[in-house]
Amino acid sequence: MNEEFFVVGGGVSGVACARVLADAGRAVVVRDRGYRIGGRMAVKTIDDRPVDVGASYFTVAVPAFQKVVDQWLDVELAHPWTDTFHVGEPGGLIGTRTGPMRYATALGLRSLIEDLALGLALEQHDEAAEVEPGPSVDGVRYTGVALAMPGPQALDVLADSLPAERAASSGMWEPCTAVIATYDSRVWPDLDGVFVNDSPVLTFIADDGRRRGDDAPVLVAHAHPVLSARHLDDPDAVITPILAELEGVLGITASPSSVIAKRWSLAKPVNPHVEHYFLGESGVGLCGDGWHGPSRIESAYLSGRALGRAMASMGQDAA
Ligand SMILES: Cc1cc2nc3c(=O)[nH]c(=O)nc-3n(C[C@H](O)[C@H](O)[C@H](O)COP(=O)(O)OP(=O)(O)OC[C@H]3O[C@@H](n4cnc5c(N)ncnc54)[C@H](O)[C@@H]3O)c2cc1C
Repeated sequence: MNEEFFVVGGGVSGVACARVLADAGRAVVVRDRGYRIGGRMAVKTIDDRPVDVGASYFTVAVPAFQKVVDQWLDVELAHPWTDTFHVGEPGGLIGTRTGPMRYATALGLRSLIEDLALGLALEQHDEAAEVEPGPSVDGVRYTGVALAMPGPQALDVLADSLPAERAASSGMWEPCTAVIATYDSRVWPDLDGVFVNDSPVLTFIADDGRRRGDDAPVLVAHAHPVLSARHLDDPDAVITPILAELEGVLGITASPSSVIAKRWSLAKPVNPHVEHYFLGESGVGLCGDGWHGPSRIESAYLSGRALGRAMASMGQDAA
Protein backbone atom coordinates (compact mmCIF):
# COMPACT_ATOMS: atom_id res chain seq x y z
CA MET A 1 0.00 0.00 0.00
CA ASN A 2 1.20 3.54 -0.75
CA GLU A 3 1.33 5.52 2.49
CA GLU A 4 -0.41 8.26 0.64
CA PHE A 5 -3.66 10.04 0.18
CA PHE A 6 -5.16 10.52 -3.22
CA VAL A 7 -7.54 13.38 -3.99
CA VAL A 8 -9.53 13.19 -7.21
CA GLY A 9 -10.66 16.70 -8.22
CA GLY A 10 -8.58 19.88 -8.28
CA GLY A 11 -11.38 22.33 -7.62
CA VAL A 12 -11.44 24.39 -4.44
CA SER A 13 -12.71 21.50 -2.30
CA GLY A 14 -10.08 18.99 -3.46
CA VAL A 15 -7.21 21.43 -3.12
CA ALA A 16 -8.45 22.54 0.33
CA CYS A 17 -8.62 18.88 1.40
CA ALA A 18 -5.11 18.16 0.10
CA ARG A 19 -3.74 21.31 1.75
CA VAL A 20 -4.93 20.12 5.17
CA LEU A 21 -3.42 16.67 4.62
CA ALA A 22 -0.10 18.12 3.44
CA ASP A 23 0.00 20.59 6.34
CA ALA A 24 -0.53 17.61 8.70
CA GLY A 25 2.60 16.03 7.23
CA ARG A 26 0.80 13.41 5.14
CA ALA A 27 1.81 12.62 1.56
CA VAL A 28 -0.94 13.54 -0.87
CA VAL A 29 -1.48 13.73 -4.62
CA VAL A 30 -4.25 15.68 -6.38
CA ARG A 31 -5.43 14.49 -9.78
CA ASP A 32 -7.64 16.51 -12.09
CA ARG A 33 -8.75 15.71 -15.60
CA GLY A 34 -8.64 19.36 -16.65
CA TYR A 35 -5.60 20.99 -18.28
CA ARG A 36 -5.63 23.39 -15.32
CA ILE A 37 -6.94 23.00 -11.79
CA GLY A 38 -9.77 25.20 -10.48
CA GLY A 39 -12.83 23.22 -11.58
CA ARG A 40 -15.87 25.47 -11.73
CA MET A 41 -13.74 28.51 -10.76
CA ALA A 42 -12.85 28.48 -14.43
CA VAL A 43 -11.24 31.17 -16.51
CA LYS A 44 -11.12 31.62 -20.27
CA THR A 45 -8.72 34.00 -21.99
CA ILE A 46 -10.62 36.19 -24.44
CA ASP A 47 -8.91 39.09 -26.25
CA ASP A 48 -5.81 38.53 -24.09
CA ARG A 49 -7.66 39.02 -20.82
CA PRO A 50 -9.07 36.50 -18.33
CA VAL A 51 -12.84 36.11 -18.02
CA ASP A 52 -14.51 34.16 -15.20
CA VAL A 53 -16.77 31.73 -17.05
CA GLY A 54 -17.84 29.62 -14.04
CA ALA A 55 -18.25 31.08 -10.57
CA SER A 56 -18.65 34.87 -10.61
CA TYR A 57 -17.32 35.91 -7.23
CA PHE A 58 -17.04 34.67 -3.66
CA THR A 59 -18.45 35.77 -0.34
CA VAL A 60 -17.15 35.15 3.16
CA ALA A 61 -19.29 34.16 6.15
CA VAL A 62 -17.05 32.27 8.57
CA PRO A 63 -13.61 33.00 10.10
CA ALA A 64 -12.05 29.76 8.76
CA PHE A 65 -12.58 30.98 5.18
CA GLN A 66 -11.80 34.62 6.08
CA LYS A 67 -8.31 33.45 7.08
CA VAL A 68 -7.36 32.27 3.59
CA VAL A 69 -9.21 35.17 1.97
CA ASP A 70 -7.11 37.60 4.05
CA GLN A 71 -3.98 35.95 2.64
CA TRP A 72 -5.30 36.41 -0.91
CA LEU A 73 -6.17 40.04 -0.16
CA ASP A 74 -2.71 40.66 1.35
CA VAL A 75 -0.92 39.49 -1.80
CA GLU A 76 -3.52 41.27 -3.98
CA LEU A 77 -4.70 38.10 -5.67
CA ALA A 78 -8.24 39.01 -4.60
CA HIS A 79 -9.98 42.33 -4.03
CA PRO A 80 -13.36 43.47 -2.71
CA TRP A 81 -15.60 43.96 -5.76
CA THR A 82 -18.99 45.22 -4.61
CA ASP A 83 -21.74 44.71 -2.04
CA THR A 84 -24.44 46.07 -4.35
CA PHE A 85 -25.93 44.55 -7.46
CA HIS A 86 -28.74 45.88 -9.58
CA VAL A 87 -32.03 44.02 -9.79
CA GLY A 88 -33.65 43.65 -13.18
CA GLU A 89 -36.53 42.01 -14.96
CA PRO A 90 -37.19 41.38 -18.65
CA GLY A 91 -38.43 44.99 -19.11
CA GLY A 92 -35.44 46.73 -17.51
CA LEU A 93 -33.64 47.56 -14.28
CA ILE A 94 -35.86 48.08 -11.25
CA GLY A 95 -33.46 48.92 -8.42
CA THR A 96 -30.46 47.76 -6.44
CA ARG A 97 -29.90 45.27 -3.64
CA THR A 98 -27.11 45.44 -1.09
CA GLY A 99 -25.78 42.24 0.46
CA PRO A 100 -22.46 40.78 1.59
CA MET A 101 -19.20 41.95 0.03
CA ARG A 102 -18.48 40.06 -3.18
CA TYR A 103 -14.81 39.45 -3.83
CA ALA A 104 -13.22 39.13 -7.27
CA THR A 105 -9.75 38.71 -8.75
CA ALA A 106 -7.59 40.43 -11.35
CA LEU A 107 -6.36 37.16 -12.87
CA GLY A 108 -9.55 35.08 -12.59
CA LEU A 109 -10.87 32.99 -9.70
CA ARG A 110 -8.78 30.00 -10.74
CA SER A 111 -5.66 31.94 -9.68
CA LEU A 112 -6.79 31.50 -6.05
CA ILE A 113 -6.84 27.72 -6.37
CA GLU A 114 -3.46 27.71 -8.09
CA ASP A 115 -2.16 29.72 -5.13
CA LEU A 116 -3.75 27.32 -2.61
CA ALA A 117 -2.16 24.40 -4.46
CA LEU A 118 1.41 25.75 -4.40
CA GLY A 119 3.76 22.95 -3.29
CA LEU A 120 1.17 20.18 -3.68
CA ALA A 121 1.81 17.20 -5.95
CA LEU A 122 -0.54 17.62 -8.93
CA GLU A 123 -1.46 15.31 -11.78
CA GLN A 124 -3.25 17.41 -14.39
CA HIS A 125 -5.08 16.40 -17.55
CA ASP A 126 -5.33 12.92 -16.07
CA GLU A 127 -8.62 11.21 -15.33
CA ALA A 128 -9.32 8.77 -12.49
CA ALA A 129 -11.40 5.96 -13.96
CA GLU A 130 -12.31 3.69 -11.04
CA VAL A 131 -12.31 3.94 -7.26
CA GLU A 132 -12.66 0.60 -5.50
CA PRO A 133 -12.56 -0.72 -1.94
CA GLY A 134 -9.04 -0.79 -0.52
CA PRO A 135 -9.31 2.07 -1.14
CA SER A 136 -7.74 2.14 -4.56
CA VAL A 137 -7.74 4.38 -7.61
CA ASP A 138 -7.22 2.68 -10.95
CA GLY A 139 -5.75 -0.34 -9.16
CA VAL A 140 -3.32 1.56 -6.88
CA ARG A 141 -4.01 1.36 -3.13
CA TYR A 142 -3.91 4.38 -0.84
CA THR A 143 -4.49 5.05 2.84
CA GLY A 144 -7.40 7.29 1.95
CA VAL A 145 -9.08 8.57 -1.22
CA ALA A 146 -11.10 11.78 -1.49
CA LEU A 147 -13.54 12.44 -4.30
CA ALA A 148 -13.92 16.22 -4.47
CA MET A 149 -16.48 16.83 -7.20
CA PRO A 150 -20.23 16.90 -7.92
CA GLY A 151 -22.01 13.67 -6.89
CA PRO A 152 -22.82 12.54 -10.47
CA GLN A 153 -19.11 12.78 -11.36
CA ALA A 154 -18.26 10.68 -8.27
CA LEU A 155 -20.85 8.11 -9.40
CA ASP A 156 -18.99 7.80 -12.70
CA VAL A 157 -15.91 6.45 -10.90
CA LEU A 158 -17.23 4.72 -7.76
CA ALA A 159 -17.33 0.92 -8.10
CA ASP A 160 -20.62 -0.88 -7.41
CA SER A 161 -18.80 -2.50 -4.47
CA LEU A 162 -18.92 0.88 -2.67
CA PRO A 163 -22.71 1.14 -2.19
CA ALA A 164 -22.64 3.60 0.76
CA GLU A 165 -20.42 6.01 -1.17
CA ARG A 166 -22.63 5.65 -4.24
CA ALA A 167 -25.76 6.32 -2.21
CA ALA A 168 -24.17 9.43 -0.67
CA SER A 169 -23.26 10.69 -4.16
CA SER A 170 -26.76 10.54 -5.57
CA GLY A 171 -28.91 13.64 -5.96
CA MET A 172 -30.06 16.11 -8.57
CA TRP A 173 -27.84 18.86 -9.97
CA GLU A 174 -28.92 21.72 -12.22
CA PRO A 175 -27.05 23.04 -15.25
CA CYS A 176 -26.10 26.59 -16.21
CA THR A 177 -24.80 27.85 -19.51
CA ALA A 178 -22.74 31.03 -19.28
CA VAL A 179 -22.72 33.37 -22.27
CA ILE A 180 -19.68 35.63 -22.60
CA ALA A 181 -20.26 38.66 -24.81
CA THR A 182 -17.59 41.24 -25.63
CA TYR A 183 -18.49 44.68 -27.03
CA ASP A 184 -16.62 47.56 -28.68
CA SER A 185 -17.60 49.88 -25.85
CA ARG A 186 -19.67 49.91 -22.64
CA VAL A 187 -23.17 50.11 -24.09
CA TRP A 188 -25.03 49.49 -20.81
CA PRO A 189 -25.70 51.47 -17.62
CA ASP A 190 -23.03 51.86 -14.93
CA LEU A 191 -23.32 48.68 -12.80
CA ASP A 192 -21.41 45.69 -11.40
CA GLY A 193 -23.93 42.92 -11.82
CA VAL A 194 -27.65 42.27 -12.12
CA PHE A 195 -29.87 39.67 -10.45
CA VAL A 196 -32.59 39.10 -13.05
CA ASN A 197 -36.04 38.25 -11.69
CA ASP A 198 -38.98 36.68 -13.51
CA SER A 199 -37.01 35.78 -16.63
CA PRO A 200 -37.17 32.31 -18.17
CA VAL A 201 -33.90 33.16 -19.96
CA LEU A 202 -31.47 34.88 -17.59
CA THR A 203 -30.65 34.70 -13.89
CA PHE A 204 -27.54 36.87 -13.46
CA ILE A 205 -25.37 39.25 -15.45
CA ALA A 206 -21.82 40.15 -14.37
CA ASP A 207 -19.87 43.10 -15.71
CA ASP A 208 -16.53 41.33 -16.11
CA GLY A 209 -14.61 44.57 -16.70
CA ARG A 210 -15.86 46.00 -13.42
CA ARG A 211 -15.12 42.87 -11.41
CA ARG A 212 -11.68 42.49 -12.97
CA GLY A 213 -10.90 46.19 -12.51
CA ASP A 214 -9.89 46.96 -16.11
CA ASP A 215 -13.33 48.22 -17.26
CA ALA A 216 -13.20 46.09 -20.42
CA PRO A 217 -16.64 45.98 -22.13
CA VAL A 218 -17.38 42.31 -21.36
CA LEU A 219 -20.55 40.77 -19.92
CA VAL A 220 -21.07 37.25 -18.60
CA ALA A 221 -24.74 36.23 -18.53
CA HIS A 222 -25.98 33.07 -16.81
CA ALA A 223 -28.82 31.27 -18.56
CA HIS A 224 -31.80 30.05 -16.55
CA PRO A 225 -31.38 26.36 -15.54
CA VAL A 226 -34.46 25.28 -17.50
CA LEU A 227 -33.21 26.98 -20.68
CA SER A 228 -29.72 25.57 -20.05
CA ALA A 229 -31.14 22.05 -19.57
CA ARG A 230 -33.15 22.31 -22.78
CA HIS A 231 -30.00 23.00 -24.81
CA LEU A 232 -27.39 20.85 -23.06
CA ASP A 233 -26.51 19.18 -26.37
CA ASP A 234 -26.24 22.50 -28.18
CA PRO A 235 -25.29 25.25 -25.68
CA ASP A 236 -24.85 27.84 -28.48
CA ALA A 237 -28.64 27.73 -28.87
CA VAL A 238 -29.02 29.88 -25.74
CA ILE A 239 -27.04 32.76 -27.27
CA THR A 240 -29.86 34.31 -29.33
CA PRO A 241 -32.43 34.38 -26.48
CA ILE A 242 -29.77 35.64 -24.04
CA LEU A 243 -28.81 38.55 -26.32
CA ALA A 244 -32.49 39.43 -26.77
CA GLU A 245 -32.99 39.40 -22.97
CA LEU A 246 -29.89 41.58 -22.49
CA GLU A 247 -31.56 44.13 -24.73
CA GLY A 248 -34.68 44.03 -22.56
CA VAL A 249 -32.90 44.18 -19.19
CA LEU A 250 -29.99 46.50 -20.02
CA GLY A 251 -31.19 48.24 -23.20
CA ILE A 252 -28.26 46.90 -25.26
CA THR A 253 -29.03 47.22 -28.97
CA ALA A 254 -25.43 46.95 -30.23
CA SER A 255 -24.26 43.56 -31.47
CA PRO A 256 -21.41 42.00 -29.50
CA SER A 257 -18.05 41.78 -31.23
CA SER A 258 -17.71 38.21 -29.98
CA VAL A 259 -19.94 35.80 -28.12
CA ILE A 260 -19.37 32.28 -26.80
CA ALA A 261 -21.33 29.87 -24.62
CA LYS A 262 -19.81 27.74 -21.85
CA ARG A 263 -21.98 24.86 -20.60
CA TRP A 264 -21.89 23.59 -17.03
CA SER A 265 -23.95 20.39 -16.94
CA LEU A 266 -23.50 20.15 -13.16
CA ALA A 267 -23.51 23.77 -12.01
CA LYS A 268 -25.07 23.37 -8.58
CA PRO A 269 -26.76 20.78 -6.38
CA VAL A 270 -30.52 21.05 -6.00
CA ASN A 271 -30.50 19.76 -2.39
CA PRO A 272 -27.02 19.86 -0.84
CA HIS A 273 -26.36 17.53 2.10
CA VAL A 274 -26.56 18.96 5.60
CA GLU A 275 -23.27 17.27 6.60
CA HIS A 276 -19.91 18.79 5.63
CA TYR A 277 -18.55 15.60 4.04
CA PHE A 278 -18.87 11.80 3.90
CA LEU A 279 -16.18 9.39 5.07
CA GLY A 280 -17.02 5.70 5.23
CA GLU A 281 -15.32 2.59 6.57
CA SER A 282 -13.85 2.07 3.10
CA GLY A 283 -11.49 5.05 3.47
CA VAL A 284 -13.18 6.81 0.55
CA GLY A 285 -14.33 10.36 1.37
CA LEU A 286 -16.65 12.70 -0.49
CA CYS A 287 -16.55 16.49 -0.37
CA GLY A 288 -17.44 19.54 -2.45
CA ASP A 289 -20.24 22.04 -2.71
CA GLY A 290 -22.80 19.22 -2.67
CA TRP A 291 -21.96 19.04 1.04
CA HIS A 292 -23.16 21.58 3.58
CA GLY A 293 -24.61 23.99 1.01
CA PRO A 294 -25.62 26.46 -0.23
CA SER A 295 -23.46 25.74 -3.26
CA ARG A 296 -20.68 28.27 -2.96
CA ILE A 297 -16.93 28.51 -3.15
CA GLU A 298 -16.82 29.02 0.61
CA SER A 299 -18.93 25.89 1.29
CA ALA A 300 -16.75 23.80 -1.02
CA TYR A 301 -13.58 25.08 0.67
CA LEU A 302 -14.95 24.29 4.14
CA SER A 303 -16.17 20.87 3.01
CA GLY A 304 -12.73 19.98 1.64
CA ARG A 305 -10.99 21.16 4.80
CA ALA A 306 -13.37 19.21 7.03
CA LEU A 307 -12.75 16.01 5.06
CA GLY A 308 -8.99 16.64 5.11
CA ARG A 309 -9.06 16.99 8.91
CA ALA A 310 -11.08 13.79 9.25
CA MET A 311 -8.65 11.88 7.00
CA ALA A 312 -5.42 13.30 8.45
CA SER A 313 -5.16 10.73 11.23
CA MET A 314 -6.06 7.72 9.05
CA GLY A 315 -3.55 4.91 8.90
CA GLN A 316 -1.37 6.27 11.70
CA ASP A 317 -2.25 3.57 14.28
CA ALA A 318 -0.78 0.94 11.98
CA ALA A 319 2.43 2.93 11.41
C1 LIG B 1 -22.00 29.10 -13.67
C2 LIG B 1 -21.63 29.01 -12.22
C3 LIG B 1 -21.69 30.15 -11.43
C4 LIG B 1 -21.33 30.08 -10.07
N1 LIG B 1 -21.30 31.23 -9.35
C5 LIG B 1 -20.81 31.21 -8.08
C6 LIG B 1 -20.61 32.43 -7.37
O1 LIG B 1 -20.81 33.52 -7.90
N2 LIG B 1 -20.15 32.35 -6.08
C7 LIG B 1 -19.85 31.14 -5.49
O2 LIG B 1 -19.40 31.14 -4.33
N3 LIG B 1 -19.99 29.98 -6.18
C8 LIG B 1 -20.46 29.99 -7.44
N4 LIG B 1 -20.58 28.83 -8.14
C9 LIG B 1 -20.33 27.55 -7.45
C10 LIG B 1 -18.81 27.28 -7.29
O3 LIG B 1 -18.17 27.36 -8.52
C11 LIG B 1 -18.65 25.88 -6.69
O4 LIG B 1 -19.36 25.81 -5.46
C12 LIG B 1 -17.21 25.46 -6.42
O5 LIG B 1 -16.32 25.92 -7.40
C13 LIG B 1 -17.21 23.94 -6.30
O6 LIG B 1 -15.90 23.45 -6.12
P1 LIG B 1 -15.66 21.89 -6.01
O7 LIG B 1 -14.21 21.70 -5.72
O8 LIG B 1 -16.63 21.30 -5.06
O9 LIG B 1 -16.04 21.27 -7.43
P2 LIG B 1 -15.45 21.55 -8.89
O10 LIG B 1 -14.96 22.94 -8.98
O11 LIG B 1 -16.50 21.12 -9.83
O12 LIG B 1 -14.18 20.59 -9.00
C14 LIG B 1 -14.29 19.23 -9.32
C15 LIG B 1 -13.06 18.84 -10.13
O13 LIG B 1 -13.06 17.43 -10.28
C16 LIG B 1 -12.50 17.13 -11.54
N5 LIG B 1 -12.91 15.77 -11.86
C17 LIG B 1 -14.18 15.26 -11.93
N6 LIG B 1 -14.15 13.94 -12.22
C18 LIG B 1 -12.85 13.60 -12.35
C19 LIG B 1 -12.15 12.39 -12.63
N7 LIG B 1 -12.81 11.23 -12.86
N8 LIG B 1 -10.78 12.40 -12.68
C20 LIG B 1 -10.09 13.54 -12.46
N9 LIG B 1 -10.70 14.73 -12.18
C21 LIG B 1 -12.04 14.76 -12.12
C22 LIG B 1 -13.07 18.20 -12.46
O14 LIG B 1 -12.24 18.36 -13.60
C23 LIG B 1 -13.05 19.42 -11.54
O15 LIG B 1 -11.88 20.20 -11.72
C24 LIG B 1 -20.92 28.85 -9.50
C25 LIG B 1 -20.87 27.70 -10.30
C26 LIG B 1 -21.20 27.78 -11.65
C27 LIG B 1 -21.08 26.56 -12.51
